Order: sequence, then structure tokens, then C-alpha cells
Amino acid sequence: MSDVRLADVNEAGKKVISEIHDIQLYIDGEFVDAESKEQFENVSPFTNEKINQVASGGSADIEKAVKAARKAFEGEWGSLPLKERLSYIYKIADVIDEHIDEIAPLESYDTGLPISQTKKMVARAAQNFRFYAEMVSSRLVGDAYQVDDQFLNYTIHKPVGIAGLITPWNAPFMLETWKIAPALATGNTVILKPAEWSPLTANRLAEIIDKAGLPDGVFNVVHGYGETAGASLVAHEDVELISFTGETKTGSEIMKNGADSLKQFSMELGGKSPIIVFEDADIERAIDACTWGIFSFNGERCTANSRLYVQEDIAEEFIMALKDRVKNIVVGDPMKDDTQVGPLIHTKHYENVKYYLDIAEQEGCQVISGTVPEEYSRGNFVAPTLLLNADTSMKVVQEEVFGPVIAVMTFKEEEEVIKKANDVRYGLAGYVWTKDIQRGHRVAQAVDSGMLWINSQNVRDLRTPFGGSKHSGIGREGGHYAFEFYTEVQIIHVALGDHRIPQFGK
Ligand code: NAD
Repeated sequence: MSDVRLADVNEAGKKVISEIHDIQLYIDGEFVDAESKEQFENVSPFTNEKINQVASGGSADIEKAVKAARKAFEGEWGSLPLKERLSYIYKIADVIDEHIDEIAPLESYDTGLPISQTKKMVARAAQNFRFYAEMVSSRLVGDAYQVDDQFLNYTIHKPVGIAGLITPWNAPFMLETWKIAPALATGNTVILKPAEWSPLTANRLAEIIDKAGLPDGVFNVVHGYGETAGASLVAHEDVELISFTGETKTGSEIMKNGADSLKQFSMELGGKSPIIVFEDADIERAIDACTWGIFSFNGERCTANSRLYVQEDIAEEFIMALKDRVKNIVVGDPMKDDTQVGPLIHTKHYENVKYYLDIAEQEGCQVISGTVPEEYSRGNFVAPTLLLNADTSMKVVQEEVFGPVIAVMTFKEEEEVIKKANDVRYGLAGYVWTKDIQRGHRVAQAVDSGMLWINSQNVRDLRTPFGGSKHSGIGREGGHYAFEFYTEVQIIHVALGDHRIPQFGK
């Protein structure tokens, strides 16, 4: 392990980090090596030194996991009374809560996300389970259709079967539970393929679910690369659905690879979300929200407001304030409570973000960055950065950088800014700042995005639909919307009387 000390790790964090061991797969209720015995190395974003070895699953391991998940689905799990099933879901939430102090440091250690932020993410993970246990007991209801005294038709929701969940590294624990909770609560069995750059907390989750006592095979984790473990899960004939969060180009590849087995897909993909600030906005609050929206999660946030459109009259004042913020943001050790921006997940991603900064300069942007303290030069740090004088035609405005980098543009008129905001292929989120209530709604509704906030940063309400339009996604998860994906609706038609039946051949 590294000789660069991660500062201020609390007692629980110290213990957890000193106990990190090599990681196995979790299949059929057991921690096992990959069939091939292969492993990959997991590396610290803070020092770029090895953290541990991780079992590298492939098609043979997916095959084993599918067999286990099918057996559980057709056996004990499939026949459990609802109340008992949901008691397991509550139990998982309780065990997560018992371990918050361990999971948050583990997540920060593995991903470079600041500890003050991972603590909140982990708390959200427990809420995800409680929320879906409640949703299933209160909102997973069918409809009844009475047809005079002839028929009563009604719908029921059945679990689909084996849910394949493929997740990214940017907020791993929270995003994994966001999928696992509705998948299990609605009665499916699960195979999780976590991102290879952030395997630690997925493994911890397997330990938690094991501790919660779920029947063997209900929940399985197969670590490994996307092209091997991920692709085998997608192509498997016996996996009924794939819920994927990740890059747009990966999503489209997955849909092609899963087409032969006619799976259902939920796609939560990339974003390049606009924040539009009108001259009448509460400027101080808009600056707070804009700064948080792009620089929280180290800028590795799908709903980040990575394009700023500020109205000309207030542009100078707004940009001056942003320059100040960028200089003052605390960049540093993800384990320190006051750190606001930590290192990016991996050197490959770091190089990609740096590539975009070079391109921005070549395209004519003025690049204004904060500073990374000298002592952190071994980590994948990119300082918070403003790209001034950006323009819609630029690569850095059109493509997702997924780092602490915001393209800054100005506008004169409402119509103009709507056109500019919509002139990208993505449509995940959007943010509008104005005190004019009519304009607020008008612009919000005109922006092409799955989600839009007026006078707010991204504040999540678990009951509401989550997802993107255009190249940012297909389908919605969240609230009862997740039921459309994780359950199969069956309609049952019941004849109540002697309705007419044609008598062919009589
Ligand atoms: P990624 O697409 O590289 O990888 C995501 C997951 O897919 C990983 O587990 C990876 O191993 C797996 N994978 C890769 N190739 C695969 C294949 N051929 N078959 C099956 N699985 C495969 O994404 P990432 O770099 O981990 O995450 C960052 C991206 O995720 C960004 O684009 C971000 O916007 C997006 N994201 C979207 C949301 C949302 O809700 N819309 C949320 C978080 C992140």
C-alpha cells in the first residue's frame, strides 16, 4: 500500500483501509475465485499505487451466476410471501446503516470522491432499499377493468426473472443500490457487474447482503471487464433484462449485443447538461448551484451542469465570481473532511480530461484553472477549470468531458439560449435560473432533457422519474417508474357470465 498517507481517516476508516484484501466474486452465496483464476489490479486514484487484486470474471462465471440466480428465482425467492421478501430489503438497509462509517471511506479510497460527499451517497444507498420496500408494498398495484356484467379484467405485476445490472465508477455504491433495490424488492434475482475501476464497495455490498441472510443465488456479483464479464452477461439467453448506467457508446454496443436474446434495456447514459442563468436570477444562489453542479463528485457526475449560458448583462459579474470560486475550491486528499475536489478515478480518465483541456485551448477557449497542491502530484488531479469564450460548435461544448470542467457561454435572448441549450446530442438534465415564473416554466419545458430544475441544483426526490432523453438514455427509473422495467405486467381476463362465443363448425 502507498507510503503517501491518506490524511484524517477516522477510526473506522483506518480500520477498513488497513483491512482491504483481495476481492473475489460472489456467486450462489459464496465468495469464489474466477474460474480462470485471473485477477486484475485495483489502483488508488490518489497515489496510483495498487490497492488490491480483484477476481476477473468471464463467461464461465456469468454462466455459474445465471444458474444460481435462476435456481433462486424458481425456488425459495420466487415463492416467498411479499412481506418476507420485503423484510430482507429492510434488513439490507439496516446493515448498510450499521456500516456507513466503513463504506464511505472505502468508497473515497477507491474512487477519489471526497469523504464529505461519499458519506451522503452511502446514506442514500440505505434509503434506496427502504424506499423501494415501501414502494412495493404501497404502489405495486394492478388495475381492474369492469366490462358491464360480462368481464372483469385485471392486471398483476410479476418479477421479470434475472436482472443483469451493469454500473459505472462515478458514484458506484449509490448507483448500484439504485438498481438493486427495485430489482430485488419486485422479486427478481440479480447479477451485478460493477465497474472495474471501483470494485471495493460492490464487494462490501455483497458482504452486507450475505449478512442480511438472503437465500443463496438471489444476489450475485461478477467483477470483471466490460468486454468479458459485461458482454457475457448482456449476451446470455437466460438474463431477461439489463439495466445499464454508463457511457452512451457503451449503451449502444450493449443494445446491439443483447438484441439476439430480445432483452429489455434500461439505459442511463451520458450528459452535457446546460445551466441557463437569466439576468433577474438570484445571482449568489445561482453561482453556488453552478459551482456545486459542476465540481461536486470531482465533476464526474452524469447530471453535471457542464455548459453555462449566462445572460450578457450579468455575464461579467457572474464569471468574475466563478473565477474566484475556482481559485478557492479546496482540492486535495479525498479523506479530508474539508476537501471539495479529489483526484479523478484513473490515469486513463485523467488523460482523457487533459486531452479535452488541450483541445479547448486549440479551439480558442481561455482556460482558467484553480491549483492542485504540489504534494498531490502523484494523484490524478485536475483542478477546477473554466473554459471561457466557448461556442456551440466546439468539441468541448458538444462532448461529455466528465471532469471538473465547465464551458462558459453568454446569450442575449431567451429564444437564442433555448436553441443553444438544445444543440447537443445529449438530453439528461437542465437547470434554469430566473425569478420570472412564466419564463422559468417556458424555458424549462422547451429544453430537451429528461430532468430539469428551476432555481435549484440537482436535488433528488426518489419518487420522481430519473432518466434522459436523446442520447442520454432510454426509459425511466425511480419511483413507480422502475416497476415498468423490473416487472412484467400481465392482464387476466375473467368472463363473469355467458357472453357470446362464435360456434364454428357446430
Ligand atoms: P462505461 O460505459 O465505460 O462503463 C460502464 C459499465 O459498463 C462498466 O461496468 C463497464 O465495465 C461496463 N461495460 C463496458 N463495456 C461493456 C460491454 N461491451 N458490455 C457490457 N458492459 C460493458 O462508463 P463509465 O466510464 O464507467 O461511467 C461514466 C459514464 O456513465 C459517463 O458517460 C456518465 O455520464 C455515465 N453516467 C450516467 C448516469 C445516468 O444516470 N444517466 C449516471 C452515472 C454515470
